[in-house]
Amino acid sequence: SEPIIRLENVSKIFKLGLLGKTMIKAVDRVNMDIREGEILGILGESGSGKSTIARLILKIYEPTSGRILYRGRDIKEYRGSKGLKEYYRKVQGVFQDPYASFNPRRRVLDVLRDVMKNYYPITSLQDIDREIGLTIEKVGLSMSDVIGKYPHEFSGGQLQRLSIARALLVKPEVIIADEPVSMVDASTRIDILNIFIDLKESEGISFAIIGHDLGLTRYVSDRVVVLYRGQIVEEGSAEILSEPLHPYTQMLAKSIPRIDKKWESKLEYSVGSIELGARGIG
Ligand code: ADP
Repeated sequence: SEPIIRLENVSKIFKLGLLGKTMIKAVDRVNMDIREGEILGILGESGSGKSTIARLILKIYEPTSGRILYRGRDIKEYRGSKGLKEYYRKVQGVFQDPYASFNPRRRVLDVLRDVMKNYYPITSLQDIDREIGLTIEKVGLSMSDVIGKYPHEFSGGQLQRLSIARALLVKPEVIIADEPVSMVDASTRIDILNIFIDLKESEGISFAIIGHDLGLTRYVSDRVVVLYRGQIVEEGSAEILSEPLHPYTQMLAKSIPRIDKKWESKLEYSVGSIELGARGIG
């Protein structure tokens, strides 16, 4: 079947310096699909282009070349505030730092109400709160956890759950999650990843989940692409990570057994962040 999101030969070049003479190819001719009902893991070390891909799909950046299609339609056709809103009804984002994605001066419940008022303007406040309550339960919290509170009154894990709830309120088909667990407590990472798996299964939402941690990315994903210097170097079912072809992925994969053992016991594992850059592969 047709993918929900398709990247066709997508590149993104940043020009730096006063004269724009320094060019950084953050994303280099990437072809990638997000298919119906799957969790696609986008894996790669820091600087490999993962966030840039998320931002391209979320229309924060425009591709330098290539096309991004949503159900066959070039997403650059979603223009202006009306077009963007139509797009964001279907495609939502969750970002790394939940504190940065909530206005610190607004109560979280008010932010969630604003989303509902913006997307469902004729709904009564009573119905809005009922919908918010149901949505908050999907991420493992309840209305009483949230009432009256400002962002800083939540733990990082709770606030990340609420940013997932915010994305869910518009009933999107796809959620692009950019390193959604790398800033939350190690002990709650699996719980948050399990929310994505539950949402996929119970609501049929598709996901692209970006990560630099091979163990966690493999855990949550049905399919994985591995990025290295802006290019996809490996792609396939999550199992490919057990026997990767590319030397870069082989290097990443070396840490899997250690991670697996630790998460069986659900202990904290900090080996998850693998800093490979310094070893100079490729
Ligand atoms: P990742 O998410 O895998 O860490 P990024 O997509 O953030 O990687 O970055 C890929 C490359 O593009 C890096 O070299 C980064 O410095 C560069 N880059 C990302 N965003 C910008 C930007 N807005 N301006 C200039 N360079 C950028």
